[in-house]
Amino acid sequence: MLVLKFGGTSVGSVENMTRVKNIINDGEKKVVVLSAMSGTTNALVTISEFIKNGELEQAVLKIEVLHDSYKKTVSSLISNPFLVIEAKAYVNTIFSGLRALSNTPYSVLSYNKIVAQGELLSTFLFSRFLFQDHKKVALLPALDFMRIDDNNEPDMAYIKQNLNRMLNEVADADIYITQGFICLDTEERISNLQRGGSDYTATIIGAAIGAQEVQIWTDIDGFHNNDPRFVEKTKAISNLSFDEAAELAYFGAKVLHPQTVMPVRELNIPVRLKNTLSPDSFGTLITNQIHGEGIKAIAAKDGITAIKIKSARMLQAYGFLKKVFEIFETYQTSIDMVTTSEIAVSLTIDNDTHLEAIVEALKKVAHVEVDDFMSIVCLVGNNIIYHQDTPQLFQILQDVNVRMIAYGGSNNNISLLVNTSDKQETLRKLQRYVFENSDRLVFS
Ligand code: ADP
Ligand code: ASP
Ligand code: MG
Repeated sequence: MLVLKFGGTSVGSVENMTRVKNIINDGEKKVVVLSAMSGTTNALVTISEFIKNGELEQAVLKIEVLHDSYKKTVSSLISNPFLVIEAKAYVNTIFSGLRALSNTPYSVLSYNKIVAQGELLSTFLFSRFLFQDHKKVALLPALDFMRIDDNNEPDMAYIKQNLNRMLNEVADADIYITQGFICLDTEERISNLQRGGSDYTATIIGAAIGAQEVQIWTDIDGFHNNDPRFVEKTKAISNLSFDEAAELAYFGAKVLHPQTVMPVRELNIPVRLKNTLSPDSFGTLITNQIHGEGIKAIAAKDGITAIKIKSARMLQAYGFLKKVFEIFETYQTSIDMVTTSEIAVSLTIDNDTHLEAIVEALKKVAHVEVDDFMSIVCLVGNNIIYHQDTPQLFQILQDVNVRMIAYGGSNNNISLLVNTSDKQETLRKLQRYVFENSDRLVFS
């Protein structure tokens, strides 16, 4: 069986939902994972912020505007009178629930409940859209099988057991629709797989059912060699290995949620990126095969904090790094980049929830400097650190304002730390030097 995930733009209008219908309408059995319609999750996050800040009038206003847009979607998407009544009633129930949440004291649980409504809406409406001329469609509630454990990891045994049972219960269906992004936690409370998490839902499902392939259908023709939001003339890459894709997704390529390849890598289930707006384009195929040499792609991750820890006693002392890392472990904060010298260690984190406490603890053993608004720019390609052309990178870097560099931590990745204000220029310069005027994937 295939798993196909369609993102926000793919289900963001009646026109695009019609495209999705045409893509999945081939009579083959498949699981279809849907995101919220584009803009909805952002609107829900804003509503949640208003409620959190006690700006209830603003929250209610935003809820009304969103409700109106869904009423319009129902009218233009569905024509069967019975299904229109059913869809309108569902939409009204969701928005009554949102209004009720705006009158309850705010907690993380309120946030999780509010942001979950987008996927519930899109899947309900899309299933009714298909019901109009397609009988073999089943809507599987993700909250009946998708669960994360206390470490926010998918509870694979639970998911496998429940999802396969649910698929068997409606064995005569050929299109199983479910919500991306949302899940339950160990206490059966509503939770989610973090922003962009529908990609992750798709590969978790792919692993749970032993899918032939997981397809991520989005609004671009595959994984590009640089971030198209900041750089012109980027190109789609036809093949990536799981390792390359994992590094790029982790280091900021928005087209894939950072965890996407994790569930399927070990099982060797291919992941294919496809463009809903141009289904005939090849897209990108991610497998365990290695294709090409040199730098394949560049990505950037924002929101990075750099911490420099200096200690005269680090000189020839052992155990210093252990002490430093233990502090990060205590505060469950993972480290992305690390560089060391005789008297200092610099490292980066992307989660600054416990920054203050970490700095306090570090100050007991060393002098500490913190810089925020940093970005990691990451160059990825199979074995790039051994490639004959890679040393040229150091000439290029003379022209780029680099604060820290990690080379050799993984054979496939060279990471540069830059000020976020220099990120776009860095990406553009690297694009020019690495990919342009060259038909190879390496330096010209
Ligand atoms: P979806 O809603 O389908 O999940 P996303 O907006 O999450 O779509 O991801 C697709 C977007 O990711 C693209 O439109 C593009 O702007 C952005 N993007 C960032 N980096 C890359 C990259 N390396 N390759 C392709 N797209 C990228
Ligand atoms: N709707 C969620 C978000 O916008 C999940 C997703 O689109 O993958 O983050
Ligand atoms: Mg996405």
